[in-house]
Amino acid sequence: MITSRAWAGKTYGVYGLARTGKSVVATLTASGARVAAWDDGEAARDSFGGELTDLHTADLSALAAMVVSPGVPHDAPVFRRAVAAGIPVIGDIELFAQARAGLPPHRVVGVTGTNGKSTTAALIHHILVSAGVPARLGGNIGAPILSEEPLPTGGVYVLELSSFQLELTDTLACDVAVLLNITPDHLDRHGTMDAYTAAKARLFAMQAPPATAIVTSDDRFSRTIRAVEGVAEIVPPGIAAVEQAAWPALAGPHNQQNARAAIAACRALGLAAGQIDAGLRTYPGLPHRMERVRKVGGVTFVNDSKATNPTSTAPALAAFPHIHWIAGGLAKTGDLDACVPFLSHVRAAYLIGDAAPRFAGLLHGKVPVINAERLDRAVAMAAAAAHPGDTVLLSPACASYDQFTDFAARGAAFKALVGAL
Ligand code: ADP
Repeated sequence: MITSRAWAGKTYGVYGLARTGKSVVATLTASGARVAAWDDGEAARDSFGGELTDLHTADLSALAAMVVSPGVPHDAPVFRRAVAAGIPVIGDIELFAQARAGLPPHRVVGVTGTNGKSTTAALIHHILVSAGVPARLGGNIGAPILSEEPLPTGGVYVLELSSFQLELTDTLACDVAVLLNITPDHLDRHGTMDAYTAAKARLFAMQAPPATAIVTSDDRFSRTIRAVEGVAEIVPPGIAAVEQAAWPALAGPHNQQNARAAIAACRALGLAAGQIDAGLRTYPGLPHRMERVRKVGGVTFVNDSKATNPTSTAPALAAFPHIHWIAGGLAKTGDLDACVPFLSHVRAAYLIGDAAPRFAGLLHGKVPVINAERLDRAVAMAAAAAHPGDTVLLSPACASYDQFTDFAARGAAFKALVGAL
């Protein structure tokens, strides 16, 4: 695990005791700090095993900081109490930033954006590891970064950073910062697009020269993001489509953006063109992102459960010609505008969950619509209707929380249903 002398003898509040909170408690304790830990959920408290302190009533004035999980909203009572007591409210990524001074010389790549963060971070990590550079992948993906072993000299930490994590981070000076795109998402939490953009802009504001800032989109919000003085700015040019054909796990225009970002980041880290190309060719892809599950009777079943908003579903609809589209769940935006240009590819839509009635209204008259309500019924109906050459695509354009614990559980359920056909 990653520890730091900087925390010894201090006391930290830790609010939220899921995986990340537990790793924070472990690393702080191992560093000689005291911890006042709490979770509002009884099950999380029971599974914690350590000493608990009710942070709703405890005196917070002596705390060095309150470390909260990224899911904790700003108006949560404990968050507000900490702010009122003048205590910094931070996340595990800020602790990682504070620990950097004690780590062997290394570099950090931070990747943010609305869509493509995991793919791009995993791709950069894969290219580095294939080139023989010691690297770790963490942040919003994989294991909590503080629970990882420190890298030897010359290592690269590749961090996927959500806007929630960036809001809880004050001093992470990334050697390479990447912004992929900004489209409406998480507005329930951030309120406005400007606030959402401001959270992403923090990644660049925290950089210090010598460093590199990479911005791959030209949307109105990405354009407002500027690197700090002295930091090299790169907006990478397009890549030839012919190159992309050699990268089997990076099909589609969205992955062209992710690949461009990864190429620019790896160049900034000093890798040679041949090393980068070798990594792109061998990248295996991530589960739940346009993942080909199985072909049954000539019908291909694709799991794109990670597509939780219309902009991330659009590239999946663009990628296949004859689609039986399973969509719905908990909608994050009121529209399906980004998907409309590709509805000519859709033979029928099978709608599930909370958003089904709304999506039915939006799609009425454009494609045949079936309200399947549940995933099992949607898979059965789509499989029965599909002809050889068609694709049954789960790309919900919605969060999963109305019917599943998360997108991974939804994708796993889809794979199990397809496996049983
Ligand atoms: P994130 O970690 O930002 O959620 P992922 O790499 O997990 O991104 O991809 C999530 C979904 O978004 C996938 O379903 C994929 O098809 C789509 N997607 C990936 N990259 C992009 C991109 N650059 N632009 C738009 N959509 C994308």
